[in-house]
Amino acid sequence: MLFEDLSLSNSIQRAVFEEGYTSPTPIQEKAIPFILAGKDLVGCAQTGTGKTAAFAIPIIHNLHRMIGSSKKTKQIRCLVVTPTRELAVQIGESFDTYGKYTNLRQLTVFGGVSQVPQVDQLKKGVDILIATPGRLLDLHKQGFIDFDHLHYLVLDESDLMLDMGFINDVRKIVKLVPTNRQTLLFSATMPMAIRELADTFLNKPEYVSV
Ligand code: AMP
Repeated sequence: MLFEDLSLSNSIQRAVFEEGYTSPTPIQEKAIPFILAGKDLVGCAQTGTGKTAAFAIPIIHNLHRMIGSSKKTKQIRCLVVTPTRELAVQIGESFDTYGKYTNLRQLTVFGGVSQVPQVDQLKKGVDILIATPGRLLDLHKQGFIDFDHLHYLVLDESDLMLDMGFINDVRKIVKLVPTNRQTLLFSATMPMAIRELADTFLNKPEYVSV
């Protein structure tokens, strides 16, 4: 399969092509059509398999089609929750890369640094927010984050979030976002606690594994 076969908009194909990608990786080939079709998804994949692009590319494609050229105020349409600052930064860079020919604005927030620049960016408005759990809940509690227009919720590295003790934060976050969302859960392993999380928070998910 080639990226051309996925019917992605030209602006995304161009960005992907410029990265030197020709074919989707197995997780991308399996997950992208389900995500484009609006399905909830559980993806069992390790870092290094191309799983970030597996969710970033179809999300950018759909958001670009929905709101890409509109001049409307930016609202958070996609939230990616990931356990560490390093992962958050990498995911932000991926959204930047694949979305470089769109008008979508994205922001990465994490703890351990001043929240002031993050709050300034949130006030300007973003389409895509990538966050670690603690800082996200903090900013939400202070009223800087509005999830009313959220469509995509991505829970990345879910088993690591469990291991790092973020599971209650994740539960709190899921309760803050609209119920009529599309949820994508990624995890390198599928322990019982992750299956239970998927059963509770996802709606008839497709399962893909690589
Ligand atoms: P990830 O599993 O998301 O951490 O991605 C691992 C690496 O694979 C990243 O450096 C990506 O730039 C690269 N990558 C993702 N998708 C593809 C692809 N379809 N072809 C070649 N490289 C890719």
